[in-house]
Amino acid sequence: MCYLCKQPIEIMAEKVEIQRQTVHKECFRCCVCDKYLMPGYCAMDDGLCQIDFLFNYFGCLWFCQNHMMLGSGEKLDLLKQKMRNAGAGGSIQ
Ligand SMILES: [Zn+2]
Ligand SMILES: [Zn+2]
Repeated sequence: MCYLCKQPIEIMAEKVEIQRQTVHKECFRCCVCDKYLMPGYCAMDDGLCQIDFLFNYFGCLWFCQNHMMLGSGEKLDLLKQKMRNAGAGGSIQ
């Protein structure tokens, strides 16, 4: 089962192992820019994962090398922007 989308992973499907969890390769993307991630070249933001509305929307928050360097505040702004663009604006405080 994919840790990110909670869907079963086909035996032949491309998958990635992160923190002892298996996920679909296509599910493992930067939550800001949707770039595919490689284990070891990405980072999860524990602090942002604690924010309920972000976690509910994105699941675990992984960032590519470009975005992992940003401060939590900057990442939060980018994610809110992305949610607004996706039409989820009403649920953001
Ligand atoms: Zn998945
Ligand atoms: Zn990114």
